Amino acid sequence: MGLRIVVLTKHVPNIHSNRTFVDGRVARGAADGSLNELDEHPLEEAVRLLERMSDEERAGSEIVALTMGPAEASDALRRAYQLGADVGVHVLDDALAGSDYLGTAAVLAAAVRRVAQDGPVDLVLAGMAALDGLGSVVPALVAAELGWPQLTNAGALAVADGAARVERDVDGVTEVLEADLPVVVSVNDHINRPRFPNFKLIMAARTKEITTWSLAELDVDTSKVGAAGARTQVLSAEPRPERPPVELHVDNGEGGVALADFLASRGLV
Ligand SMILES: Cc1cc2nc3c(=O)[nH]c(=O)nc-3n(C[C@H](O)[C@H](O)[C@H](O)COP(=O)(O)OP(=O)(O)OC[C@H]3O[C@@H](n4cnc5c(N)ncnc54)[C@H](O)[C@@H]3O)c2cc1C
Repeated sequence: MGLRIVVLTKHVPNIHSNRTFVDGRVARGAADGSLNELDEHPLEEAVRLLERMSDEERAGSEIVALTMGPAEASDALRRAYQLGADVGVHVLDDALAGSDYLGTAAVLAAAVRRVAQDGPVDLVLAGMAALDGLGSVVPALVAAELGWPQLTNAGALAVADGAARVERDVDGVTEVLEADLPVVVSVNDHINRPRFPNFKLIMAARTKEITTWSLAELDVDTSKVGAAGARTQVLSAEPRPERPPVELHVDNGEGGVALADFLASRGLV
C-alpha cells in the first residue's frame, strides 16, 4: 500500500545576496532564488523512508513536493525533482501576495487535502525553518489546519505499523515521540545528509511536468490569504547599515598600544 508523503518545499531568495524590499516585504521572485536549503533534509528523509521498504511495501508510494510562491518558486520544485520527488505541485495565484504565516499554512493545508483526493496522505514532512523568514511556525500551523498531530525537530524518523516515531534532542535529553499517521513531521538539519543528485535525475528534472493549482482549485478560506487576510503587518524593513571598513594594524611591537588606543577611541575601555 506504500506511503504517500507530501514534502513542504519553499523557494527562498538567495540569502547570500542583498535582499530588496517592496512595501516592507522581501521582493520575491528574484532570479537567483532557490529551494530552501533546510528543505533538502525532509526530501532526503522521504526518499530514505521509501528506500528502506521492500518493493512490495513500497508499491503505491509517492513523494509530492509542494510549494506556495510566485512563478519562480517552480525552481524549488525542479530541485526537489533532482532530489527524488515524484510529483511537484505549485500553488500559484496573484491573490497570495502578502499572505502571512496563517494564510500560508491555510493554503498549504488545502493543497495537502487536494493531494489526498487522489489517495490518502500519510505524512507531511517539512524543514525546521525557511532561511528567509525563519518563522519555524508553518509546519505547526499546517498540522493545526489539518487537525493532525505534529512531531517537531526530528533528528531521526521511522514509520511502522501506522505510526511515525521520531527522536529529538532537547536540552541534553533524547526524546522518543510517536504519533499515529497521518502526521506532520518537521525535521532538523542533523537528520541526514542530502545526497548529491545523479545525472539522470538532474536531466529528468529539467522537463518534468509541474502541477499548478490556483486558489480557485483549492478549498481554502480566501479571507485568510493575501495582504487583506494577513493579521500581521510589516511596519518597516530597513537593510542593516554597512559595517565600517576593517582597520588593519601591523604589530611591530606596538600592537598592544595600538589595540588599546583603538578600543579607547571607541569608548570600549
Ligand atoms: C504581513 C506579512 C506579509 C507577508 N507577505 C509575503 C508575501 O507577499 N510573499 C511571501 O512569499 N511571503 C510573505 N510573507 C512571509 C510569509 O508569511 C512567510 O514567508 C511564510 O509564511 C513562511 O514563513 P517562514 O518563511 O518563516 O517559514 P518557516 O515557518 O520558517 O518554514 C518552516 C518550513 O515550512 C515549510 N514552508 C514554509 N513556507 C512554505 C511555502 N511557502 N511553501 C512550501 N513550504 C513552506 C518549509 O518546509 C519550511 O522549511 C509575509 C509575512 C507577513 C507577516
